[in-house]
Parts: sequence; C-alpha cells; structure tokens
Amino acid sequence: MTGEIEIIYQNNLQTENIFTFYCSLFDRVIKWTVTVDGDLRHYTTLDGKAMTMLPFDDRDGFIWHDGEIISWRDAKLHVLSHGLHYGSSVFEGERAYNGKIFKMREHHERLIRSGELLGFKNPYSVAEIDEACKMVMEANNIVDGYLRPVAWRGSEMMAVSAQRSKIHVAIAAWEWPSYFSPEARLEGIRLDFAEWRRPDPATAPVNSKAAGLYMIATLSKHAAEEKGYNDALMLDYRGQIAEATGANVFLIQDGKIHTPTPDCFLDGITRRTVIGLAKEKGYDVIERAIMPEELAHTQEVFLTGTAVEVTPVREIGEYKFTPGEITKDLLLAYDELVRKPS
Ligand code: PMP
Repeated sequence: MTGEIEIIYQNNLQTENIFTFYCSLFDRVIKWTVTVDGDLRHYTTLDGKAMTMLPFDDRDGFIWHDGEIISWRDAKLHVLSHGLHYGSSVFEGERAYNGKIFKMREHHERLIRSGELLGFKNPYSVAEIDEACKMVMEANNIVDGYLRPVAWRGSEMMAVSAQRSKIHVAIAAWEWPSYFSPEARLEGIRLDFAEWRRPDPATAPVNSKAAGLYMIATLSKHAAEEKGYNDALMLDYRGQIAEATGANVFLIQDGKIHTPTPDCFLDGITRRTVIGLAKEKGYDVIERAIMPEELAHTQEVFLTGTAVEVTPVREIGEYKFTPGEITKDLLLAYDELVRKPS
C-alpha cells in the first residue's frame, strides 16, 4: 500500500493494548486498529469493509490441503519438509473479482509447469486445481480476494536428492478488495535500483514461479523499503532492465510501448493481458532488450502483475516520470476487463 498517511484523529482510550486511529489516505478516511507495539490488527477499506491484519497462521477459515478442505489453523507442515529446507516449492498468486478468478486456467497451467521445471509432477490436474480454488473461495465466502496455491516436496527425504518425496498442494484464499481509485493510483510509486540481479537461465529455472527465486526479490524489496521506496527494479545478469520484485515493467517512449523480452524472468499473465489490450487499442508494443540508461528518454513507466494490476511508476532511482495518457488508458482498460461482470 502506498501514499502519504496523515493521522487525523487518534483514539486516546487504550483498551487491551489496542489503539484505534483514523488516517486520511488519498483524500479518503480509513480506520486502523494497531497494537501498542505497532502491529496492525484491523483496518477499514475505502469502501467500508472491515479487514484483519492478523498473522497468516492466526486466522479462522478453511484451506484446501492435499484434496481436502481443512480448518485454516490445522493447515500445518512439518519443520522437516524438503520445500522449506531446499526451496523445492512453487506457488501462484491469483485474484478473484466479483466471485470469479481472473485467468484461472493460465495460473494453474503455470503452477504445474513451475513444478515440472523443478523436476516434480503435481499430483493434481489443472481442472482439479480449478475446482479446488472454487471450493476454497466458497468455503471462505470470498467474492473479491487473493488465492495462493502452493506445491512443495514433503518430508520423506531430507537431503539434496529427494527423488521419492511426496508432492503436497495447498490452496488458501483471503479477501482482497481494491483499495485505490484510478486517480490515486495515477500518482505513481517510487522504485530504487536493486543490487541483486535476475540470474542467467543457465543458473536457475527462471521461468518457474519457484519460491527460491524470491530470495533476491525479498532482499531487494527490503533494501528499497529501508530507503523509503515502494519497490525495486531488478536488472538481469547482463545489466538489462528485467522486472520489479513481483511485477513486470513497461516503458513508454515517444508514444510507443517497450517492455523487456522475458528471457530470464516470468512472462506474467498480467503482462500478456496488458500487451493484448494495448495491441487491441492500436499501440505499438515492442519486446526487446532495454538498458537502464534508456530511462533518461522514457516518459512513462508502469508495472503489471496480478497483485499490482497496472501500477504507474513516478521514479526509478534518479529518473523521474509523469504517469500519462497511455498508462491511464491501459490502467482503466485492465480495471474494466478484470472487474467486468461475468
Ligand atoms: N514477476 C514476478 C517475480 C512476480 O512475482 C510476478 C507476480 N506473479 C510477476 C512478474 C507478474 O506475474 P503475473 O502477472 O502473472 O502475476
């Protein structure tokens, strides 16, 4: 979540170590509930929904786990799991709008492919994972939400070689309404340059949405956040622009849309959707190698991803941009596509 937060009212009555205060964020008022040691517990979204910020293992609800719907709190794995020790885990991040998962099929095909790229076969088919996701949404009463399927190697073998390990799959889902009006989002976010680089395809299975590849993303995002930025732009092993830590990047130069060729990072489902929308609208979309110096003659920049949708960028390191007409056009087109009633 980005933007300047101004505290406009704080409840001085401290009950059970919890404070309530109200903030104005992008000209709207939101209510927050925070513990005395600073943990955010609850907040109210712009459309008035009460949301919980409890840790993910301390919530009520249901999770699909290896073919069954179980209680959220019982969805545990053993500390001796190969996925935890050796990073043999892949996942997806999906959004549901108006009760329907956007590009569900593509996400589940990618989940299975991601596992294959790590050398394992998902025990469930795309259709079975589709069904499981629908069950999870229903069990948790989710209309607008985020879904997190994950597949990992289990506990049968605790060594580098884990040929006979069982593959587990779980799917969780939680509410995720849209927070910001297009006007607010058009203010744009700020990125720093990451120190870590996306690896060569000969170094890692770069087309897999593999948990291990997020190690450098988390390091990069943390470093950027510590300096007050929202996210980091990662270059690749050649020094070319690659992507943000969890989203793809697009540049507008003289009315044309340029985006790096996805040869060492995820070719995002949102990226492909936005390229399709841009082409339909008659824009030229050029996929090519882009060096960071080109940001000096770039007018607009935006990110795409399931979570960030189309998010304008106003700064990358020393380079400044003004989110303009093309970004706005695509942001609105994407909003309309994902939110259109089925
Ligand atoms: N790159 C990375 C590293 C990501 O984590 C994501 C989010 N899945 C993306 C790109 C965008 O992918 P998608 O549009 O499929 O969400």
